[in-house]
Amino acid sequence: MNKTIPLRALPSEIPNTGGCNDAPVLRERGQREVFCGLTGIIWLHRKIQDAFFLVVGSRTCAHLIQSAAGVMIFAEPRFATAIIDDRDLAGLADANDELDRVVARLLERRPDIRMLFLVGSCPSEVIKLDLSRAAQRLTRQFAPKVAVLNYSGSGIETTFTQGEDACLTALVPTLPESTVGSPTQLLIVGTLADVVEDQFLRLFNEMGVGPVACFPPRRSTELPSIGPNTRFLLAQPFLGETARALESRGAQRIAAPFPLGVEGTTLWLQAAAACWGVDADHFEKTISSSRERASRALSRQRDALQGKTIFFFPDSQLEVPLARFLSRELKMTVAEVGSPYLHKQHLAEELAMLPADTLLSEGQDVEKQLDRCRRANPDLVVCGLGIANPLEQEGITTKWSIELVFSPIQGFDQAADLAELFSRPMRRRALLSHSLAHDAQAA
Ligand code: SF4
Repeated sequence: MNKTIPLRALPSEIPNTGGCNDAPVLRERGQREVFCGLTGIIWLHRKIQDAFFLVVGSRTCAHLIQSAAGVMIFAEPRFATAIIDDRDLAGLADANDELDRVVARLLERRPDIRMLFLVGSCPSEVIKLDLSRAAQRLTRQFAPKVAVLNYSGSGIETTFTQGEDACLTALVPTLPESTVGSPTQLLIVGTLADVVEDQFLRLFNEMGVGPVACFPPRRSTELPSIGPNTRFLLAQPFLGETARALESRGAQRIAAPFPLGVEGTTLWLQAAAACWGVDADHFEKTISSSRERASRALSRQRDALQGKTIFFFPDSQLEVPLARFLSRELKMTVAEVGSPYLHKQHLAEELAMLPADTLLSEGQDVEKQLDRCRRANPDLVVCGLGIANPLEQEGITTKWSIELVFSPIQGFDQAADLAELFSRPMRRRALLSHSLAHDAQAA
C-alpha cells in the first residue's frame, strides 16, 4: 500500500510538569575531562559487521582503542591504527603515500571489508592530513567493492559520543535516494544493541508501523534509502549533526523523548505510532504486556534508589534522558545535570519532564563543578573515568558514564537493567563500608 503520512503533532500523553525547558542553563567553558570520539569505534564496529575503522593517529590513539576494546577478543578485529610517527610529524615522509600502502595491504589481506572508515585523530589534524581527499582517492581505487569514507574522532574539540555522530554524518551522503511515491518509511537513527533493535522492530511490526529501517544498518550493503517520505526517530540524544544531514535530504524528525525507562520507551514508540495513525487501543494492546513486565521489574529497583541524590558530570550526552528516567520512574533527586552540549530542540520533550528546579549545566569547568558536587554531597555521581577514581577516594560513589553507552539500556526489557546500573555501585559501597566497620570492630 502506497501512502504518504503527514507528520503529526506530539502525542498529548507527554506529561506537562512545568519542566525546565525555560530554566536558566549554567554554561561553562573551562577545562574538560572527557574521552575523544575514537571511543565510538568500539560500538560502531560491532554494529556494521562488514566495516573496518582505520584510525590515522598516534600510539596513544592505538592504546586508547585497544584498552577501551580490551574486553572484546576478536580473531580478526575490525579496527586498527595507522601510526603517524615522528617522520610524518616532521614532514619528512609523505603520509598520503604511506596511508595508501597501509590501506592496499589491509584490503588485500581482508577481502571481507566492504566499507572502510579513515578516522582522523588529533595528530592527523595537527599535521593537516586531508583524509577526505584520501578517502576520495582510495574510493576511486577500490570501488565498487569497497567504499572508503572518513570522519574525525579527534579529541581536540569533541566528546566521545560525537564520534558516532561524525561517522553517521559521513554516511548520510552515501544513502540512496528513495523513490518518489514509495511508502512512508520509519528510520530508527542511532546505534542500538541488536537485541534492543529486534525488540523495537517486532513492536513496530505488530503495531503496523512501517516499513522500518535502521541507521546504521548491520551491513554496509543494507544502507536505507531516504528522502521526503522518511520519518526518523532518534534512538540516541547525541546525533545532532546526523539529524541535520538527514533533514537536508528531506527526511523529517519525529519529536519524542528517548527510549530509556518504561515511560521514555512508551512515549518514543507512541510518537511513531501517532505519526502512522495507529489506533490508541491497538497501540495499548501491542505494548501492554512488555510495559507491565518492565514496570514490575523496575519497581524492585525503586527501593534502592528512591530518595537518593544523583549528580551528572558532562560526558555521554545521555545525561538529560537519564536524569528524567531516574527522577520520574525511580524517584531520585537530581542535584545537577551536566551535559557537554544541550541540544534544546532534540531534548525539548525530555526537559519538559524534568523537575522545574533542576540545575542544568552545559560544557565544563571541572574544578568548579567538582566543588559544586562536593557541596551537593550526592549519593551517586555519574562521570567519566578520569574523575571517578579521585571521587571514589574522597568517599563519593561513582558510575562510569561510558558503561551506559556500551550496555543495552534502551527499551522495556532493559529498563530494570538500566536502573540496576545505578543501584549496584551504591550497594557495593554499602557492603564495603559495612565490612570496613566490621574489621575496625574486630581490631
Ligand atoms: S584522538 Fe587525540 S585524544 Fe584521542 S587518543 Fe588520539 S591523541 Fe588522544
